[in-house]
Amino acid sequence: MTVPSPFPIVGQERPLRILSAHLLRETIPQALLFTGIPGIGKAAVATRFAQACNCDVRGPGQSMAEETASGPAEPSPEAELPACGRCKSCRQIAADSHPDWIRIRPERSGIRIGQVRELLRIIALRPYAARYRIVLLHDAHRLNPSAGNALLKALEEPPSNTIFILLTDHLSELLPTIVSRCQRIPFHPIAGSLIRRHLMENGGCSRDQAASLAAAAGGSLSRAEELLASDWCDDRARLIKELSHLQDRAPEYVLALAEHLSGDRERLAEVYSVMESWLRDSMVWKLAPEKIINKDLTDSIQYGSQEVAVSSLMERFRAVQAAQRYMQHNVNARLTLEELLLRIGDS
Ligand SMILES: [Zn+2]
Repeated sequence: MTVPSPFPIVGQERPLRILSAHLLRETIPQALLFTGIPGIGKAAVATRFAQACNCDVRGPGQSMAEETASGPAEPSPEAELPACGRCKSCRQIAADSHPDWIRIRPERSGIRIGQVRELLRIIALRPYAARYRIVLLHDAHRLNPSAGNALLKALEEPPSNTIFILLTDHLSELLPTIVSRCQRIPFHPIAGSLIRRHLMENGGCSRDQAASLAAAAGGSLSRAEELLASDWCDDRARLIKELSHLQDRAPEYVLALAEHLSGDRERLAEVYSVMESWLRDSMVWKLAPEKIINKDLTDSIQYGSQEVAVSSLMERFRAVQAAQRYMQHNVNARLTLEELLLRIGDS
């Protein structure tokens, strides 16, 4: 299995603070459940926690006590989990080669009973080297029922020094009996300002480009990075320019554009999402131009909205939302988009 590239921790101060407090007091629950949308750092925080539990240089509690000796005993909200990142234990956990750091990922049909039985066999033995053995279950909602029940027994009577961390972005699909055994730690979408700063500092983005990506990513850092690595920025710019000039186009052109854009369902979802963002900016432009999201496309947004009343822009915005609902009900995608684009061009 390939070693996943390290995912940065951006924001998530509250989960970090909860875990720090447990570590400091040595009251770590043996079953933790991290919940929240994909791409916000659940696995990254779990990895960091495993390092902090087992760091050879900075033992649990000890380093935090040193750092807080002159201040209050409580770790500050900004306090990160203390781990050196360089000792053998920290490096092995980062590389997924530590014998007491066990990751379980679903196979095609989910997490199977065989995977859980193998896990139970391993954790029945004492940890090889670590103070804490950490078991990380990715996509815990994909536990097959039999695998879930087998795991439940281990969660009810966990071996000493073994900590289970379950990750899910579909909490409602997880067995309630498993949820009730775990201490839940919710992870929230990352603030747009933090994603923007991260993209500027690490992704080589301009401020305007980073702001557009952050707005489109909906709080998910991995989504923002996916968009950055794809043609999304160029596609969005092309589409917004097209939309802003629809009123200058002949109907044949508009129909051909609708056909082109509606060819692929996944792409169509992106088209509607960019249309929403464009119409939102067109309205905002009239009231507070400094607050638009697509700042790198100011000229197009101004051109497309100058002759259109806010009430009419609002109507179009609702029409885009309706088209998104139709799409989910498999209504003819091309016809819906044709009607929408003709309507936008008819001004
Ligand atoms: Zn270390």
